[in-house]
Amino acid sequence: MRFSPADISASSQAPFQLYTPLTRDHDRRTDETWLAARLTEDTTEFLPVWKLQNLVHGDPTHAVTLSASEVAPLLPEAESITFLGTRDGGAVFSIVLPSAEVDPLKAQGQWMNMRNFGDLLGSADWSLLAYARAYAYWHERTRYCGVCGSPTVSTLGGHVRHCTNPSCGVDHFPRSDPAIIVLVISGERCLLGRQHAWPAERFSTLAGFMEPGESVEQAVAREVYEEAGIHLREARYYGSQSFPFPASLMLGFHAEAETDVIQLNDGELADAHWFTRQELRAALDSHTVGLPPGYTISHSLISAWFNLAPVGARL
Ligand SMILES: [Zn+2]
Repeated sequence: MRFSPADISASSQAPFQLYTPLTRDHDRRTDETWLAARLTEDTTEFLPVWKLQNLVHGDPTHAVTLSASEVAPLLPEAESITFLGTRDGGAVFSIVLPSAEVDPLKAQGQWMNMRNFGDLLGSADWSLLAYARAYAYWHERTRYCGVCGSPTVSTLGGHVRHCTNPSCGVDHFPRSDPAIIVLVISGERCLLGRQHAWPAERFSTLAGFMEPGESVEQAVAREVYEEAGIHLREARYYGSQSFPFPASLMLGFHAEAETDVIQLNDGELADAHWFTRQELRAALDSHTVGLPPGYTISHSLISAWFNLAPVGARL
């Protein structure tokens, strides 16, 4: 089975691929006067992060944004503040609140780990909160210089941390760790695996981190062979998803198998099976198989393949 990019994007359920709710306004990051003025402006929005959790409210669930006046008493104690960009003409910042505080914004909503409630959010809010969470994690882990051990300070609107040791002075930039995620296909079947720590019915695509010195395609082939013993004939890029748990960038592929004998080589998977669409549909209906949440690229990779079936067989 061969896919064309048009086929996949037409059936894609991956709004995270292109849409972003704000403009990053890269050139504003160097304008300290402009940034400082935005901290007290009425049109500015603040996304709070506390213990790597985001603040949400309502049903359906929405991100809580705070105004400048609401945030004013929190600014002096903030662990980090990052200029995320602008939307509708107003600036958007993330603000990380001290972890020592006890539920600092209890009345405003509910603190939740994005990994557990991603399915409840719309794509715009998911994108915003993922952005805020990713920077919160990076600031927390980059308080000291990795070269000389001196403290670092946040600069360029929170997008660089500068070493305070004058004889070092290294700038540290945020990083994303690339990982591949792949749906392997053989004829009319796809390969799904289950990791040891997952619930008994959870099956998903295969995934793994890239290693230094290899191309993305090489990482796809290596991971699939290590985890399932399958050799690949072809791998086609599908799309990507920022996955800030804690700092991954998931690079999604559909791959065509050269072989089909499953062998769990590295022990990372507890189980793996080939599924036809009919078998997958039946397993989902009987709850013997559960797929990853709908907001994930793994779900999108599977549904894009599944929905190429004749009309009426949509996942
Ligand atoms: Zn240093």
